[in-house]
Amino acid sequence: MGISRLLQLFVALMLTMSFVYPVEVLAAARSTSVRARSLQSTVAARRTIAKAKTSTARLTKKSATTKKSTKNTVAKKSVAKGIARKATARKTTAQKLQRKSKVTRVAVHRARRKGQLGLRHTAGRKQVKAKVVAVAKKAPKYAYPADIFMWTAPETAALPMSSSTRKSVRKAFNNGVAGKFSPQQLVQSDVFEEDPLLGGIFVRREGVRYIVMHSTETERPADAPRVIHSWNRGMRHPGAQYVVDRNGKIYQTVDPKFATVHVNIFRTENGVNNDNSIGIEIVRAGKQKYTSSQLESVMKLVTYIQNRFDVTDACVVGHGQIQPSDRSDPVNFDWTAFSNAKANLKMHSESLALKRRTQSWIIPFHKDDKPYDGPRPTDVSGPAAEDELDESELDESTENI
Ligand SMILES: [Zn+2]
Repeated sequence: MGISRLLQLFVALMLTMSFVYPVEVLAAARSTSVRARSLQSTVAARRTIAKAKTSTARLTKKSATTKKSTKNTVAKKSVAKGIARKATARKTTAQKLQRKSKVTRVAVHRARRKGQLGLRHTAGRKQVKAKVVAVAKKAPKYAYPADIFMWTAPETAALPMSSSTRKSVRKAFNNGVAGKFSPQQLVQSDVFEEDPLLGGIFVRREGVRYIVMHSTETERPADAPRVIHSWNRGMRHPGAQYVVDRNGKIYQTVDPKFATVHVNIFRTENGVNNDNSIGIEIVRAGKQKYTSSQLESVMKLVTYIQNRFDVTDACVVGHGQIQPSDRSDPVNFDWTAFSNAKANLKMHSESLALKRRTQSWIIPFHKDDKPYDGPRPTDVSGPAAEDELDESELDESTENI
């Protein structure tokens, strides 16, 4: 083959190539972009699928948790139901037993009641009812009927008293030897301040045998007059004969020959009641301590009442001692210190009495007098307990404790 032929071939090839190439390239490019597009959409689809998978997984997890909790709840519910069922069963048994015991109790109660009412055990309902009504009519609703109480105690005429006599009475009270003076005389001598009760007073049906000590235990600190005035509501109300204020002042609400309601006779023990006792209220509230002047006044007052009414030491009691079911007053009261102080005062008064008796034996002797030859006193029992005042006797007891 010649060169021209080769050239011819070459040219022809080049021509063909130049003609074919763009078509092929275009086709290739087209297919590439289609593929790219399809690839793009595939990626997007994959992403969507992935998202959907994730959310599905989440949902599955959630539903699993929910299912679990539901299962738990159901289990718990069933357990609770079981317990409730058991409890109901027990309750029913208890109720049954209760009903049974109630039936027995009612029967016992009825039998006892019939006995109390003085009826035969065969007595019918109507009979019992009639009897109960009859008894209720007779029995008082309260511990004391309203008509037992007085608004005020009848006054007794007070004899006039000189200022020196009053002074002597005060001294005697301080020395523990005022027992022969009446409470009225002590009021006159300003040993006691009078702040009368209105209502709540009644005539004693027994003699005084006990002294019951209380503390007021008010919600907030209050003085004695306020405590006394708080009692004065209506005809039937509580009260004590004496109230000892924080400053040691002794208030007498009524002559202690009259009774007041300071203990609950349905709850007291050892036979203590309002008819046979005198009440002393010591003013105190919350965390307050008793003041020293208060304790001194209480000690002197108790000594006076003991002397005046012959009350033994054993019969000086606290409200809490004789009504322990619901009372604990006087709160934080130092009984040992109290009885020691009282014993000291007693010793002091006895030494004074001894001094008086010794002096009564000494006969005044004058140098012109003949030697005494008359009878000697044999009675050494001490001064008679009279209500008359003997000032010469009292003036010897000048010492204060
Ligand atoms: Zn009390």
